[in-house]
Amino acid sequence: MRWILFFGAFIGPSICGREKFFGDQVFRINVRNEDEINKLTQLVNSENFMLNFFKHPSTFGRTVDVLVPAVSLQPVKSFLKSQDLEYSVTIDDLQALLDDEDEEMQQNEGKERSGDDFNYGAYHSLEAIYREMDSMATDYPDLVSRVKIGYSFENRPLYVLKFSTGAGERRPAIWLNAGIHSREWISQATGIWTARKIVSDHKKDPAITSILEKMDIFLLPVANPDGYVYTQTKNRFWRKTRSQNLGSRCIGTDPNRNWNASFAGEGASDNPCSEVYHGPHANSEVEVKSVVDFIQKHGDFKCFIDLHSYSQLLMYPYGYTVNMVPDAEELDTVARHAAKALASLSGTKYQVGPTCTTVYPASGSSIDWAYDNGIKYAFTFELRDTGHYGFLLPANQIIPTAEETWLGLKTIMEHVRDHLY
Ligand SMILES: [Zn+2]
Repeated sequence: MRWILFFGAFIGPSICGREKFFGDQVFRINVRNEDEINKLTQLVNSENFMLNFFKHPSTFGRTVDVLVPAVSLQPVKSFLKSQDLEYSVTIDDLQALLDDEDEEMQQNEGKERSGDDFNYGAYHSLEAIYREMDSMATDYPDLVSRVKIGYSFENRPLYVLKFSTGAGERRPAIWLNAGIHSREWISQATGIWTARKIVSDHKKDPAITSILEKMDIFLLPVANPDGYVYTQTKNRFWRKTRSQNLGSRCIGTDPNRNWNASFAGEGASDNPCSEVYHGPHANSEVEVKSVVDFIQKHGDFKCFIDLHSYSQLLMYPYGYTVNMVPDAEELDTVARHAAKALASLSGTKYQVGPTCTTVYPASGSSIDWAYDNGIKYAFTFELRDTGHYGFLLPANQIIPTAEETWLGLKTIMEHVRDHLY
């Protein structure tokens, strides 16, 4: 059942008006062969069930995760049974998880409002993240600056942190991107943690110190701020931007199908109501265009890393074709080293490979654009977990996730430092 709570003022500002998911569940469906993929495609295309796919059907052996609203539980179970599809319930009380997350976030906000330091082990509002970025720039003026690269569709500033020891000289650069899909909260949280890690380890950890002797790092922790605010005020599972679509009641474009890399090809939809709608034309989303313009104007980016969740994957181009990139061998080696470094902390296993064959075809993605525009070291991380909590990864996993990811990121950045081209 879905309904909007109008009495939010009594419960707290952040849940006010947010969509409820009482009785809704998340199902995990096994996909054992091609035939089952086709059956699941029927389910994807059926609008009657009002499903929200967290993990789409792709190759067999890779499971599908789907949010099933309470009203559709019985019909979907009947469908799965009639088609002989195996499934299990991964989240049986979605609203309870959402309530826990919300309560924890509000408690933390209260503490920070009354003077506590920014808690890197908590999820935050956009304002709180922006404030923390500002204070880093104020506290470390010789290393960090906050750069505004544009405005979102709803006119929120897009802020990037620039880490540089080059005192204004132009150096080769690394782009770290997070939160392009707004519901993947561990990505934004890992992004802002990473910023703090860079400032606290500079001049202490020889690896990051030497990276910053040769290169600048640019970090965009919230690449889709409108979507992020929407996940906190209206619908926790919003993925896309919030732009309007001419002639459609549906809002938003998938900002990771909107880049000018085989735009509108395989793995993207021309239906504005789809979660993977590619938009009316490449770079139609101002959030994408602002990054493209900034990177092109700079002209010397060597590395582009995009942080997503969830699935524990480390991927490199291409997503739009099964063809291998010319540098596939090198990228694969780097990614394997990074995944090994990541796993060394607490054993978290990542799968490594090109996007298209590791998960599914996806045209118009950020790292394909980066690679095709001369940024050789282009990688996508799909962070924790593998679906137990999915997008609702508990806040007590933020720091463990960010810490292990940092080891992977550092491995890649060190390789880039040693292979400048
Ligand atoms: Zn994503």
